[in-house]
Amino acid sequence: MSEKKFKYAGVSSLTLHQSQHNFPASAHLNPVFATSTFTFNNADEGMRRFAGLEEGYIYSRWDNPGFKPAEDVIAALETFQLKDGSGNDLEAKAILHASGMAALSNLFQSTLKSGDAILSHFSLYGGTHEYMHKVLEQNGIEPIIADLRNLDKVESVIQQYKNIRLIHLETPANPTIQCVDIEAITQLAKQYHVIVSVDNTFATPYLQQPFKYGVDFVVHSTTKFLNGHGTAIGGILVGKDIAFMKTKATKWHRLLGCNSNPFDAFLLMNGLKTLELRMERHCSNAMAVAKFLEKNKAVAYVNYNGLESHPDFSIAKKQMKHPGAMLSFELKGGLSAGKNFIDKLQMCTRAVSLGTADTLVSHPASMSHYGVPKEERLQFGITDGLIRMSVGMENIEDILEDIDNAIN
Ligand SMILES: *Cc1c(COP(=O)(O)O)cnc(C)c1O
Repeated sequence: MSEKKFKYAGVSSLTLHQSQHNFPASAHLNPVFATSTFTFNNADEGMRRFAGLEEGYIYSRWDNPGFKPAEDVIAALETFQLKDGSGNDLEAKAILHASGMAALSNLFQSTLKSGDAILSHFSLYGGTHEYMHKVLEQNGIEPIIADLRNLDKVESVIQQYKNIRLIHLETPANPTIQCVDIEAITQLAKQYHVIVSVDNTFATPYLQQPFKYGVDFVVHSTTKFLNGHGTAIGGILVGKDIAFMKTKATKWHRLLGCNSNPFDAFLLMNGLKTLELRMERHCSNAMAVAKFLEKNKAVAYVNYNGLESHPDFSIAKKQMKHPGAMLSFELKGGLSAGKNFIDKLQMCTRAVSLGTADTLVSHPASMSHYGVPKEERLQFGITDGLIRMSVGMENIEDILEDIDNAIN
């Protein structure tokens, strides 16, 4: 392919073309390199590759050429049209991982050490919450959970715990769809030399680019909207400190055994191509579902950051292109009404996870947040009757009809 002379005006051109490297045999699309190891022409070549004196693959736990297309596209999406402090195009490096949890594990383990503390918001992905309290705590790293929407509180916590080294944000957060102000928290963190990471899984870089506000790391579970079809588990860690990404983050990725695999990387790349189209449809459907639920008499409240009734409506509006495809709601009849609703659905899929092409409906209290103690869960707004929806790309009339039939 001849070298690109212009900058892409939009995200679809990027996702369709950024990954077109010089594939072997002039293959149009990225091949699946199903190989555990790579050959050396002679001993010297092997030595040079190990010493880092020559580019080249060695072993697929370290790296595989099938990972590069998705890594390049996601790094380009997260930095799309952004500038660094000196006015140059912002650069970032992405490393593909086996899962979102693997990417988070690498992030936490490579940036924190025993004696450090990590500050995070109370509404978090269940696995991240458990990881902080089980794995990190056992390693001598203290998790501090606060309401990060209260900036005065954030500042007093940072002043109180001098060992806070990382603030980890998830916005919008699972499953309450709470949003935190990435810019305000990052500005505060910088004053105290604290680094900031954002789990951007719910939004995707099409809707929200945390690097715009100066954060240090972005992580994703690519299992969700980036893959978009529910065909593979994966995660990615993106950092703008290229030196750190190439040294410590790469080393930890290899030593923790966080590697992705060639076929899942291929499926991810395939899904990424339609990210913009898919997110547009997901978001317009979600808005219609949220408005429909809000008007329904059986519904106590709807958590959707695109509704003016949501407490974080203005923060979401400030930092997101559209409010996203995730919402949750509480039925007036509590747990039994919730179970009844889920059982009566005829089209929407009963499953955890999110970001697949079809609509997924789940019950956080008994499923994704089963591992979080009840008192804590209630404090986070995860009530017994809360239902979470990942709104899919079906025709909106059918989604609304399915909900309408199930709710009554
Ligand atoms: C799913 C998810 C994760 C974990 O990702 P896996 O790919 O399941 O390991 C982390 N954060 C968020 C917000 C998620 O939705």
